[in-house]
Amino acid sequence: MPSPSPDTAGYGGDTCCVEVRTPGGTALILDAGMGLHWLGRSLMEGAFGSGQGQAHLLLTHTHWSHIQGIPFFVPLLIAGNQFTLYGPGEGEPLQDAMRQQLHPIYCPVPNFFNDQVGATVRIEEVEEGDLTIGDAQVKVRRVNHSPGSTCFAYRLEAGGRALAYIPDIEYSGEADRRPALELAHRVDLLFHDAHCGDGCQHAGCGHSSAAQAVALALEAGVRRLALFHHHPERTDQEIDSVVAAHQQRGLVVEGARQGQVYKMSRKK
Ligand SMILES: [Zn+2]
Ligand SMILES: [Zn+2]
Repeated sequence: MPSPSPDTAGYGGDTCCVEVRTPGGTALILDAGMGLHWLGRSLMEGAFGSGQGQAHLLLTHTHWSHIQGIPFFVPLLIAGNQFTLYGPGEGEPLQDAMRQQLHPIYCPVPNFFNDQVGATVRIEEVEEGDLTIGDAQVKVRRVNHSPGSTCFAYRLEAGGRALAYIPDIEYSGEADRRPALELAHRVDLLFHDAHCGDGCQHAGCGHSSAAQAVALALEAGVRRLALFHHHPERTDQEIDSVVAAHQQRGLVVEGARQGQVYKMSRKK
């Protein structure tokens, strides 16, 4: 859940949303948590403000903390903008999940997923596999997270750089590490779930700890690890302690900070 508080103002208390811009100008957005609202505010200053924006929104799954920014994402209200929304559609069709979230009993804003209002939104249910979106190569892998809900994680490559995005994963055995290792293999930047405390013994909680994220990153040869998707009650001070406790030689470990920009220059 979002956790706005003076104690979380440093790293930020909104739920997951990461914008990626490729060298070719492809705009990708990973997850649509409450951070999406603030991303929308900044996008409105560019092409999206005049209905000329185009972006690809990749959802890992449809748990609230990954979709609740959608009703508050102003670029969706602007006719002419074009979005493609990707996500898992097993169990519940993705289109239905999106429409239901915007049902007027939950939400007063127009239902962007009905064709008459706002931006054009194309919904694409995806499966495990590889996609090409603009100049980005995208790997989609299923990860162990929560029974009854398919959860994906992603790897994006463009301009010779790679990042992996694994916000929700539980490692209940070696098999659960395989897709994560594949996605994170030698990436420049890994965003990884750090929800649990290191001593968490709660099997089935659906998440992982900073220690597990670091172990995965070291094995996969990651260069930089951004810990995120923290427990909502974790304070800035506690995140500082988690980061300090997990420093490693040969791997940059940090807490992902709301609004932070990572520049990954094109490989020469
Ligand atoms: Zn989840
Ligand atoms: Zn989550």
